[in-house]
Amino acid sequence: MERAALAAALRALLSPAQVIDHPAELRAFAHDASFFAQVSPQHVPDVVVAPNTAEEVARVVRFAAEHRVPVTPRGTATGQTGGAVPIHGGIVVTLHHLRRVLELDAPNLQVVVEPGIVHADLNAYLKPHGLIFPPDPGSSRMCSVGGMAANNAHGMRAMKYGGTGHWVLGLEVVLPTGEIITTGSVGSRSLQSSSGYELTKLFVGAEGTLGIITKLRLKLLPIPPARALVLALFDELERAGEAVNATFAAGILPTAIEILDRGAIQAVNLYRPALKLPPAEALLLFEVDGNPPGVRDDAERITSAIATLATHTEWADDPARIAALWEARSVVGAAASMVRPGAVRAYCGEDICVPLAQVPAALRGIARLSEQHGIPAVTYGHIGGGGLHAGLLIEPANPEEIARVQAMADAIHQLALDLGGTVTGEHGVGVVRAPYMPREHGPALATMWAIKRALDPHGIMNPGKIFPAEWHGMESTDGETVQAAARPIAAPSR
Ligand SMILES: Cc1cc2nc3c(=O)[nH]c(=O)nc-3n(C[C@H](O)[C@H](O)[C@H](O)COP(=O)(O)OP(=O)(O)OC[C@H]3O[C@@H](n4cnc5c(N)ncnc54)[C@H](O)[C@@H]3O)c2cc1C
Repeated sequence: MERAALAAALRALLSPAQVIDHPAELRAFAHDASFFAQVSPQHVPDVVVAPNTAEEVARVVRFAAEHRVPVTPRGTATGQTGGAVPIHGGIVVTLHHLRRVLELDAPNLQVVVEPGIVHADLNAYLKPHGLIFPPDPGSSRMCSVGGMAANNAHGMRAMKYGGTGHWVLGLEVVLPTGEIITTGSVGSRSLQSSSGYELTKLFVGAEGTLGIITKLRLKLLPIPPARALVLALFDELERAGEAVNATFAAGILPTAIEILDRGAIQAVNLYRPALKLPPAEALLLFEVDGNPPGVRDDAERITSAIATLATHTEWADDPARIAALWEARSVVGAAASMVRPGAVRAYCGEDICVPLAQVPAALRGIARLSEQHGIPAVTYGHIGGGGLHAGLLIEPANPEEIARVQAMADAIHQLALDLGGTVTGEHGVGVVRAPYMPREHGPALATMWAIKRALDPHGIMNPGKIFPAEWHGMESTDGETVQAAARPIAAPSR
């Protein structure tokens, strides 16, 4: 279908103001926060629609299914994998109009929201009620809760509280046929269930390839009254790894254990000199929460459990001091590029997760690859869960460096798999990590593909994501090929 005809048909289905087809405006929808979108900005949608209700989403999807037009759901596009980038053109469905809190059910510890609500806005709404939605991605002030569920986003406190999926009790989803279903039992307010297939879990982390989330029923937690933080320095990476084990062996489950490597410490000191972090091979931050005497006791016990491993430890339960210590961790992503003047950070190979025992090997492996490829790297992450973020620093105008950083990102992904880990601990697969899925999942990927084909027989829903490009040429259940269904519609003129 021609773009003009597509836009006209969608204007008739919705209202004219809800349909964007001006070439200049469409270009904004060719991007998310990925390096992929920076180096491949050509994936412009044919049309963008901004529905106001689930019924409008369903109307658009039914039309798309009938006319075999690709559909890409979009939250706030903070994803780092090209997930919200319409690589086969077609319709982008942006969910930012759907951002209301529909119902707070405080006695039952749950809230029902629309998918476009920004994570920090939801927690700001909940705070006066003494409640919190615990997942805490670094993009909290930008990312949508629907995008978090679609990506099964995690955060620093995932060690204790788990990823987003842990807190999703039920979903309303527009399937690729346009049908609307509710997962997690219709009308239920129960906090647990063993009833039927766990469809909620199927849609969490499906990255919009199985349908569009239009409503979420989320589990909440009373805000823990107190927190404490332990800071520790190490002159050997292995000792930092041992300190994590020593903490668990002491019977303590921190909310977070974060690591900054030598380069990350240097970057933070250049970015915020007032923090004056001492040089070290690794800096760890342990956070505990709970009641005030309990957190003080935990902090003291962590300090003594790691005393023989660390070169320096200190702990605090004063909120101002905690905020100052946490600042080093919260600015490191932004600070990374400081270690190479004029460089920018390429968000690729940025999200591996390895077994706890392999964290030192992974850190050393990244440092070795940095030498080999001539790309400076600053590494930090969630050592308590094995998640590592490598900040790879490049001169963006140099095509040869872009090629080298892509080769290095590939080597980092292979390293993670060699060490028994995964290519993505929290950011997801999207376009950029699809090539690793056969190695990571083996025959289980074919089972995922069978589910995809059963729910999306025309292959219209976020095509080109999660599965390797060649898979999209496979036969689909109704005899058409997904590739044919997902054929790009002519891109608008630039
Ligand atoms: C500075 C920064 C820090 C970050 N820190 C973290 C972190 O700590 N932890 C973490 O996990 N991630 C982090 N991220 C990555 C990103 O913020 C998360 O993946 C987030 O969940 C994406 O949400 P979004 O609304 O931006 O989704 P988008 O980027 O818009 O979309 C992401 C994927 O979800 C799909 N999608 C979006 N909304 C829906 C919906 N309603 N229904 C179906 N599919 C949908 C899209 O099609 C796409 O495949 C960070 C990103 C940045 C830029």
